[in-house]
Amino acid sequence: MSEKKTNSDWNYHPELPLKDTSIFGDLRNPRLIVRWFTKNWLSLSEFILLTMLATTMWLFAYPSVDNAKQFQLDWVIQIWLANFFLVAAVAGGLHWYFYIRRAQQKKLKFDQRDQTRNNRSFLFSDQVKDNVFWSLTSGVAHLTFFQCISWWLMANGHIPRIEVAVAPSWSWLWFFLGFVLIPVWSAFHFYWVHRLLHVPIVYKHVHSLHHKNINIGPWSGIAMHPVEHFLYISSLCIHWLVASHPLHIIFHLVWLGPGAAMSHSGYENLLVKDKRKLALGTFYHQLHHRYFECNYGNQEMPWDRWFGTFHDGSDECTKQTRERRKKMFS
Ligand SMILES: [Zn+2]
Ligand SMILES: [Zn+2]
Repeated sequence: MSEKKTNSDWNYHPELPLKDTSIFGDLRNPRLIVRWFTKNWLSLSEFILLTMLATTMWLFAYPSVDNAKQFQLDWVIQIWLANFFLVAAVAGGLHWYFYIRRAQQKKLKFDQRDQTRNNRSFLFSDQVKDNVFWSLTSGVAHLTFFQCISWWLMANGHIPRIEVAVAPSWSWLWFFLGFVLIPVWSAFHFYWVHRLLHVPIVYKHVHSLHHKNINIGPWSGIAMHPVEHFLYISSLCIHWLVASHPLHIIFHLVWLGPGAAMSHSGYENLLVKDKRKLALGTFYHQLHHRYFECNYGNQEMPWDRWFGTFHDGSDECTKQTRERRKKMFS
């Protein structure tokens, strides 16, 4: 495994400047589209892993949509408990693996430092405890809130639902396409919500809570202010408009919750015997946590590139980002 070190600000970073890995890099290039699809959907990627996790949750943990015609405490609590253990297992599992067992030491870890202790800007003066608190209280509550409303709406036929129990038809194609499109939609929604969160007054009262985490870890993923949770998880409302299967909603929820724990792990890949087995965090978002006014979206969408907020990891981009931040807060 080769690790190129060219910027001493980091323990590790991928090859710089960052390349455009999104499907929008060149939509006229069929080879690029095939490569994008193969990388994400035909290998053990976070897409596949999260789809498997969503399917397991659908089969064994969540109540059936058909039981949700009326709001009743039993199925609402079942969803809340399932979400609580889902977030706790993924964020807690990754935290245990990387930061307690230190199974990978600092290999492929972006930041040199560990997470912060004895810092009073965090609840309990401890970054990890602070992040666990916000994730398991407001984070889980908002995931549950949007899922319960979606379950009730779907059970009562108020939102379009696709059935795939019948023989293969167009709905099957839409069913599979849904999994490919949800992360793309979610990235679109995230970019614009995130821009709003960086309006200075909203930043000060809401988003600064997430940004206390400069050196991020798995629990930082959904450690957010309740208003940010509401805005971020409202991405699920797309299913109130576009025909979906319950599994799509669960996949979307898993993408927003546990998926954020993976992308904030602080490591680029999970290694097994020094081989990259699973792509986790992205340097793209790590740069956002360090320099703030850049990379509001993620690599799946071209918005940062189109709107001039893309940071490719170079010193020149750091300079531009700092100037932008000065202007915004002056
Ligand atoms: Zn973040
Ligand atoms: Zn931000």
